[in-house]
Amino acid sequence: MMAKGRPMELNLRLGAYITKNLAQRRKRFPLVTILEPLEACNLSCPGCGRIREYKNIWDERLSVEESVGAVEESGAPVVSIAGGEPLLHKQIDQIVAELVKRKYFVYLCTNGLLLKQSLKKFKPSKYLAFVVHLDGLEENHDRSVGRSGVFKIAFSALEAALRAGFRVTTNTTIYKGSDVEDLHRLFHLLTDRGVEGLMVSPGYAYEMASEHDRFLERQESIRVFRQIIDPLKKFRFYNNPLYLEFLRGEREYGCSAWGTPTYTPLGWRKPCYILADEHVQSIEELFEDELWARFGPRKDPRCANCMMHSGFEPASVFQAFRHPRELMAMMRGIKRPKGDGHPSDAPVGSGAQRQD
Ligand code: SF4
Repeated sequence: MMAKGRPMELNLRLGAYITKNLAQRRKRFPLVTILEPLEACNLSCPGCGRIREYKNIWDERLSVEESVGAVEESGAPVVSIAGGEPLLHKQIDQIVAELVKRKYFVYLCTNGLLLKQSLKKFKPSKYLAFVVHLDGLEENHDRSVGRSGVFKIAFSALEAALRAGFRVTTNTTIYKGSDVEDLHRLFHLLTDRGVEGLMVSPGYAYEMASEHDRFLERQESIRVFRQIIDPLKKFRFYNNPLYLEFLRGEREYGCSAWGTPTYTPLGWRKPCYILADEHVQSIEELFEDELWARFGPRKDPRCANCMMHSGFEPASVFQAFRHPRELMAMMRGIKRPKGDGHPSDAPVGSGAQRQD
């Protein structure tokens, strides 16, 4: 099936929003609101810190009003609904409907277990995409989430969503020992089915995750991503090309995690989607100079190996909008390797520019 691309309106709206905020000389502002309307999940993946961190509030839910209020407080045109498993929230359809009505671009992240039976609660829209989490083909994915049978259910739901006319993307977390061949077969399969795009991100070694040795150190991440993000294979990655080049060790960025503020039943996570030293009730606390003097690579030891999209993908976008050459590079797409074309030939860090 031929996949449709990301809606043009999304690119235009995001471009206009960023330009307006820069013209107003806002030093920090959000690009994507991450909304976690609950933290309970129907899986207990070994790599997930959330369900352990929030085990005391599994029964808490954000109301529809609280969810919309947080998104409006942030003002970012894109909303990623995560958790927990959002489809466990009894009013998730109302939350989505209210956000779609207000023309936010909503990405509903799901492990896929409840997706097929939930489809009737939603209407296909250019403002709504499902993001199905798949860490590999059947054997590898089921091992990654710690339960057999999950891949089959999630993949079948993904196909049902596509048949019903929904926009569908996928999200793949890369861990130590991720099987590159298996991932490439998965990406071919998903592309063949017609998903809109493939998102990739390194796993983060959450203090609360149950298996710490699954996570990649920064240089290992770069080596693995050079194999996974192979420009010659022409996969339709959903992450922006500059962030993909960052994952391949060809660019450096400082952290801009204020670009992805995360709202939970306890409030805004501070400082970021990954770390929550505290929860605060005003989003403005996430934009303060004092906070970002303390967080990011080389500032806090917990940031040392972080290459998460929540911190570095916004950095690549902000950088692009401040430097026309970077913007052209972002529009051009991920660059093809020189020489004999094998992407892992270049030394780690070659050509990398530090861009805070
Ligand atoms: S580097 Fe990573 S962990 Fe540290 S503040 Fe940024 S996003 Fe959070």
